[in-house]
Amino acid sequence: MEEGVELLRRWIRESDNIVFFGGAGVSTESGIPDFRSPDGLYHQKYKYPPEQIISHSFFEANPEEFYRFYRDKLIPGKEIRPNACHRRLAELEQEGKLRAVITQNIDGLHQMAGSRRVIELHGSVHRCYCAKCLRPYPESYVNDGEGVPRCECGGVVRPEVVLYEEGLRDQDLIDAVNFIRAADVMIIGGTSLNVYPAAGLVRYFNGKHLALVNMSATPYDSAADLVIREKIGEVFSRV
Ligand code: ZN
Repeated sequence: MEEGVELLRRWIRESDNIVFFGGAGVSTESGIPDFRSPDGLYHQKYKYPPEQIISHSFFEANPEEFYRFYRDKLIPGKEIRPNACHRRLAELEQEGKLRAVITQNIDGLHQMAGSRRVIELHGSVHRCYCAKCLRPYPESYVNDGEGVPRCECGGVVRPEVVLYEEGLRDQDLIDAVNFIRAADVMIIGGTSLNVYPAAGLVRYFNGKHLALVNMSATPYDSAADLVIREKIGEVFSRV
């Protein structure tokens, strides 16, 4: 393992065009649970599976139940802090080595750590707007309240997160593809690469070194130049 980390450290040292692509595993080490992990915990407490609750049609039909789950599970607690992976990525950007963080997470921890160029493919709980008239709202209006937050126009105010059945923003995908295409080192971390569009984006990488840091195997292990099966915070505290 030490050999793998040493190799990654060298690639990072030699490059000024790195792109990072991350998933839920990056945040779990800050204490944010991955609702997709099969611990069955959520299923005991909610009448519906999480994947159903955070879908567009469910949000429309059952906003009360959606908001109960959303406030309980998807908004990071005030005590949640960025971990060594978030912090090191922010440093690498400041050092002029990392061009962008592309993330599937909606918790805003990369920005909290100091990262500036963050492409949030699935949106963010920190931005809210009226679903009807599109007027923006402060996050506290949605995240700190109770029940279903309403706009003056009568519409439901919602977080700018991409729910199941909803499409990703074109501009985010275009930006992600451009950064990946141009990069000479791509580091993928904390994702099993099973969720759309992660797998599709990897195909655009045409650079020198592709590194994969994940606790479990992914469909792209064989395509990577380096696979590290360790906790991502551990690895980034050493590169
Ligand atoms: Zn409105």
